[in-house]
Amino acid sequence: MELSKDKVMPIKGQVQHYAWGGDFYLPKLLNLPVNKGETYAEYWLGAHNTGSAELISGDAEKILLKDYIHAYPAETLGQKAAARFGGLPYLLKVLDVKEMLSIQVHPAKAEAQRDFESENARGIELSAPQRNYKDNNHKPELMLALSEFWLLHGFKPVKTLDRILHEIPELHFLVPVFGNGNYKALYQHVMEMPQAQVNRHLKTLLDRIVPHYQNEKLKKNKEDFWAARAAITYSQKGDVDRGIFSIYFFNLLQVQPGHAVFQDAGVPHAYLEGQNVEIMANSDNVLRGGLTPKHVDVPELLKHMKFEPTVPHIIHGVEKEKAISLFPTPAPDFELGRIHLAKGQELPLLSYSVQIFLVLAGSVEVKEKSLTAFSRKKGEAWVSFDAAESKLKALEDAVIYRAAIPLIN
Ligand SMILES: [Zn+2]
Repeated sequence: MELSKDKVMPIKGQVQHYAWGGDFYLPKLLNLPVNKGETYAEYWLGAHNTGSAELISGDAEKILLKDYIHAYPAETLGQKAAARFGGLPYLLKVLDVKEMLSIQVHPAKAEAQRDFESENARGIELSAPQRNYKDNNHKPELMLALSEFWLLHGFKPVKTLDRILHEIPELHFLVPVFGNGNYKALYQHVMEMPQAQVNRHLKTLLDRIVPHYQNEKLKKNKEDFWAARAAITYSQKGDVDRGIFSIYFFNLLQVQPGHAVFQDAGVPHAYLEGQNVEIMANSDNVLRGGLTPKHVDVPELLKHMKFEPTVPHIIHGVEKEKAISLFPTPAPDFELGRIHLAKGQELPLLSYSVQIFLVLAGSVEVKEKSLTAFSRKKGEAWVSFDAAESKLKALEDAVIYRAAIPLIN
């Protein structure tokens, strides 16, 4: 493939049809026909091996963004980012969470490198179901709610967790295990408990709350609602999913549209319901702790989990430049921005390294200096390579999300 003179190009992402996805939101956003019985969970815009975006050019040849960046790293990423990351360091997604996702933790960078090598050395195939580490990267992630969004995020503070263990009769037996805040003892206790005991403790609880859930007597701001829903979704062959304990241990958050939450390494979390824009380091390293039919490796999970309380921090956009709000995080791999333009408004842009844009509402014209222009409407995306100069002009009121890399000094 040849290096194009265009530094700004339309791109098309990849839909992931995971079973937990909805069947309405993404087809509507992306203007896709709905296939009956199919679910639409995630839309990926990035250069990941299992779902790279595609460049839309006039050519018949299909060019994947990952191959193009791989062929021209300095021209697309810029020298500094190419030297530091070697490829596109982030992945931008839109998620439609209909069924709750597994409880999970992501490893820190050094641990991911060590443990990825260790599984390689032990000869565990990358595609094996018991394989934990798919790559040697960390996976911090930021999610920005597009609807009212529900999630579990980090352990509750000591007092709140102690109170809930007292409040729920079936969890009383855990009060002495937790003591004055022994998060590790508490979590390890339920994760290593024989399945028969898990069933015994949780069945009494579920027998009490599931009928209330079915009669729509439970509210979403109560742990019981999600515990009952999890039991209906995930309990198999008479066994109760032990992840249900965690629903009571973790902070239950309701995030309003436009607000964001950051998941750093070691913070347990689970997405429960809603739509969001998510940006993360380019990795697939997930250690699961229940609410899933997938592999749960308890010792590996315990190794990476931070056993400390989390005080949830809701991130609001900070207006840094005209029309652009940023959602800052400590991650060096990505930076999410949101652009609001009123009809007719123009915005000049200079691309630092590679940037990916996705139109969530309205439409814009994108014009690269002295080259031809193209327009992008709701659900459509484009990429802008290092040092590209372009200008946006809103054809209607528009909301656009931008994935970028923070400046490298
Ligand atoms: Zn995650």
